[in-house]
Amino acid sequence: RQAGDGMTAVTPMMAQYLEIKAEYPDALLFYRMGDFYELFFDDAAAAAEALDIALTKRGKHAGDDIPMCGVPVHAAEGYLLTLIRKGFRVAVCEQMESPAEAKKRGAKSVVRREVVRLMTPGTLTEESLLEARRHNFLVALGRVRDEWALAWADISTGAFHVMPLAQARIGAELARLAPSELLVSDTVDGELRPVLGDLGIYPTVLGRASFDSSGAETRLCTLYGVQTLAGFGSFSRAELAAMGALVDYLDITQKGRLPLLRAPQRDAISRLLQIDAATRRNLELTHSMNGGRQGSLLSVIDRTVTPGGARLLERRVSSPARDLAVIGRRLEAIDWAMDSALGAALRDKLRKVPDLDRALSRLGLDRGGPRDLASVRNALEQAEEIALALGEADLPDLLAEARTALHGHDELLALLDAALIAEPPLLARDGGFIAPGYDEGLDEARKLRDEGRSVVAAMQAQYAEQAGVNSLKIKHNNVLGYFIETTATHAEKMMSAPLNEIFIHRQTTANQVRFTTVELTELETRILNAGNEALEIEKRLYSSLREAILAQAAQLSETGLALSEFDLALGLADLARAQDWCRPQVDESRAFDIRGGRHPVVERALQTQGAGPFIANDCGLTAEGEAASVTLLTGPNMAGKSTFLRQNALIALLAQMGSYVPAKRAHVGLISQIFSRVGASDDLARGRSTFMVEMVETAAILNQADDRALVILDEIGRGTATYDGLSIAWATLEHLHGVNRVRGLFATHYHELTVLAGKLEGVKNATVAVKEWDGEVIFLHEVRDGAADRSYGVQVAQLAGLPKAVTDRARTILDALEQGERERAAPKALIDDLPLFSAAAVAAPAPKPAAGPSPVEERLASILPDDMSPREALQALYELKTLL
Ligand code: ADP
Repeated sequence: RQAGDGMTAVTPMMAQYLEIKAEYPDALLFYRMGDFYELFFDDAAAAAEALDIALTKRGKHAGDDIPMCGVPVHAAEGYLLTLIRKGFRVAVCEQMESPAEAKKRGAKSVVRREVVRLMTPGTLTEESLLEARRHNFLVALGRVRDEWALAWADISTGAFHVMPLAQARIGAELARLAPSELLVSDTVDGELRPVLGDLGIYPTVLGRASFDSSGAETRLCTLYGVQTLAGFGSFSRAELAAMGALVDYLDITQKGRLPLLRAPQRDAISRLLQIDAATRRNLELTHSMNGGRQGSLLSVIDRTVTPGGARLLERRVSSPARDLAVIGRRLEAIDWAMDSALGAALRDKLRKVPDLDRALSRLGLDRGGPRDLASVRNALEQAEEIALALGEADLPDLLAEARTALHGHDELLALLDAALIAEPPLLARDGGFIAPGYDEGLDEARKLRDEGRSVVAAMQAQYAEQAGVNSLKIKHNNVLGYFIETTATHAEKMMSAPLNEIFIHRQTTANQVRFTTVELTELETRILNAGNEALEIEKRLYSSLREAILAQAAQLSETGLALSEFDLALGLADLARAQDWCRPQVDESRAFDIRGGRHPVVERALQTQGAGPFIANDCGLTAEGEAASVTLLTGPNMAGKSTFLRQNALIALLAQMGSYVPAKRAHVGLISQIFSRVGASDDLARGRSTFMVEMVETAAILNQADDRALVILDEIGRGTATYDGLSIAWATLEHLHGVNRVRGLFATHYHELTVLAGKLEGVKNATVAVKEWDGEVIFLHEVRDGAADRSYGVQVAQLAGLPKAVTDRARTILDALEQGERERAAPKALIDDLPLFSAAAVAAPAPKPAAGPSPVEERLASILPDDMSPREALQALYELKTLL
C-alpha cells in the first residue's frame, strides 16, 4: 500500500519515511520536519480525524496524492495526549542532524532521522500526560506451561513488582492493578480474550520471543547491572517470562534508554485481601459506577497533600492486606498521627513536596529538565525539615523507619541548593537555571554576555591608566571587531617600549591609530562566544547534577516513599478526626461486630446535599467456631439495604488496609476475601443477559469463598421468574452457610427466605425499619432484628408520584392477593374475582365513557402479581399510568 511501486520516482525523503514507517506498522509515525511533526498516508487520515485537524496533501506517491497532516512541535504534547487516550500508539521520529549537516554529506542528502521513542499508554512519563494522583501500570502476563505470573511496573515512579498466580485469579488481579497497558504473548492471547474483554482491556500482543524466560534473565541482569538475579530472590520461569517481556517492551518503546526500576518486589496473593473485579466495581473503590473518580471510596477518603501520598492511598485501597502485622503497623502510624501535636506543621511542609518519583523517572530516562532537578531539591529540603520537626519523637515502627529514610541526602541537597536558582525553567535548552556563584566559568561567561559593554568600559579605564592616555577609547566595528583607538600624538608612546609589549598596532587612519591587545582579542571572542559558552556550561552542569541525583536514585525513592507514608498517615488521621471514625480492632478471630457503622460515601453525599443525618447501624456477623454467620436483610425499596450491605464491606476493607473506620466501634476478625454482588444489574453493554451475568458471578463466589470470606449479596436471583429466583437464592444461601461457611449479608425481597433463620444455625433476620404515617411510608434507615412484615411497594410507588387512583387500586389488588394467599387461592381466580378498576374513582380528569374494558383494565387483567418482583410491579404501575 505504501511501498513504492517503481513507476513514479520516490523522493529521497519519502523513501526514508517509508523505511522508518515499515518498522512501526502499529503506531502513528510523528515524522519531524522542522517545527512540525508530519503524518502521512493512513496515519494522516487517522490522526486528522482523532485530533480534528485539517487533512491536506503533499506531493504524489505511486501516482496518488499523499494525504498529510501535521502538528507544531511546541504544542505536540496536547495532541499526543489525545491520541494516547484514544488508544493510539505513537512513534516519535526526530531529526538527528541539522539540514546544514546533511548538506555537507551531499547536496541531495536527507536529514538523518530516527525514532527516539514509541509512546504507549503504559510507558508515559510526562507530567502533562499522566494523572498525578494515579498509578500508570504497565503489566505483563507470563506463562510457562501451567504456571502464570504477572509483572507490573510504573515507569513514571520506578515501582516494579512480580507475582505468581493461578489462571483463575488473573481477572481479579488485573482488576486490582487496572493496567494502562497489558502485554501478553501471542500464544495466550486467544485464551484470555474473554477475561480481558470483561475488564475492558485490549492487550498489546508481543511475539513469544519477548516472553522467553532465559532471554529474560539476561535482560534483567543487564537492566540492574548484575551477574545474577539471585540477589533479588529466586523466580519461577513464568515470573521471569513476565518480567523479561516487560523489560523488553521498555527497551523497544524507550529505544534502549531503560528507566530506573527498583529491584523487583515479589508480591504474594496470600498476603492481600482478595477482591475480584465485580466486587471492586460494585463497591466503587477507586471508580464510581459511572467510571469517574468522583463518588468512589477513594475520592472521599483522600486527604493526602502530595501526589506520592495519593498514589500510596490508591495502592492501599486497591490492595488491602490480610496480614495482621502489616495492618497493625499501619494503624499504629495513624494512632500516632491522631495524637501528635506536629500534624498540622508536618502537613504544611508536605504540601510543598513535589512529585519526587516522577521527577526521578524523567531524569532517569533523560527526558527531564531543570525543573525536575528542582523537584528533587525541594523534596529533599522538605524531607530535611520534616525530619528536623520530628526530632527524636517516639514514632511507631512504620514511621520510625520512614524517618530514617528522610535523612542521608545532605550532600546532594547542598549541591542542588548551591547549583540551582529558586524556580528554574522547564527545559535545559535555554539555560538560565544554574544559580550565580556556583560555577566561576559560568559566572564569567554570563557576565561577558550580559555586561559585555561594561567589561569593555572597565578595560578602557585600565588601559587609559596604563598608557597614561586619558582620551584612549575602545571601539567596535564590523571589520576589526573591538579595538583601542587613540590620536596619532599619543600613539607614539604606545608603539614604543615598554607599552608596545601590551598594545599591538592594527591600523592607522588619517587622525587615529588603532591597537589591539591579546587580552582584548580574547575578550572579544569570549564576548562573542559567551552566550554559547554559558549554555554549554549549563548543559554540562545539568548533566553532572543529573548524574549526582541518579547515583542516589534508590535512596531517593525510599525518601519519596517515606514522605508518602507520613502524608498518608496524616491524611487518614485528619479524615478520622473530622468524620469521627474509630480505630478498628483486627485480629485472628472470626468476629465481625460493627457498632454505629456508616457508609462513608453516602454519608458524604448527604453532608454535601445538606440532607438529613446518616443513620448509623450495627452489624453483628461474628461466626462462632466452625459455623457461618449470615444475616438476611429484608425491607422495602429505598429503605437503605444496599447502603447497609456496602458500608459493612467498606468498613472491613478500610480496616484491613490499615485505616480507621466509619463506626463507633469495630471488631473485624481477619477477612481473606470480600465478595459483593448485586442481582441482575443491566449489563447489556457486555452482551450477556443480566441473569447470566448474575449467575456467573454467583458461581464464582460459591466456588471460591472460604470460611474467612465476607460475602455480600444484594437481591440475588431477581433476574428471573419468582420461583426460579427464590429457589436459586435459597440454595445459594444454604451453600454459603453450610459449605463455604462465610460471614455474609443477604438483602432479599423474597420474604419466604426469612424462614431459614429458624432452621439454620447462625442465620438471622434483620430489616430496615420504616414507619407508616397516614398511609405514607417514612424511611427510618434503621436496621433492626426481625423480618420485614411487608414490602411497602405501593407506598413507595406513591412517593414516586403515581396517581392516587392507581395506588388506591393497587392497594385493593394487594389486599385481595394477600387474602388469597392466606386462603391459597390461585392468582388467576383472584384476578377474575377482583372488582374491576373503577375509572369513576378518579376524581379528575373526568372519566371517559367506555364501552368494553379500557386499555388499563385489559393490561391489569393480564398482570400476574405472583410472578412479579416489587420492581416489576412498580414497572407495571408505570405502564398502567401511561395507559390512563
Ligand atoms: P435499598 O437498597 O433498600 O433500595 P438504598 O440503600 O439504595 O436502599 O438507599 C436509598 C437511599 O436512602 C440512599 O440513596 C440514601 O440517600 C438513603 N439512605 C440509605 N441508608 C441511609 C442511612 N443509614 N441514613 C440516611 N440515609 C440513608
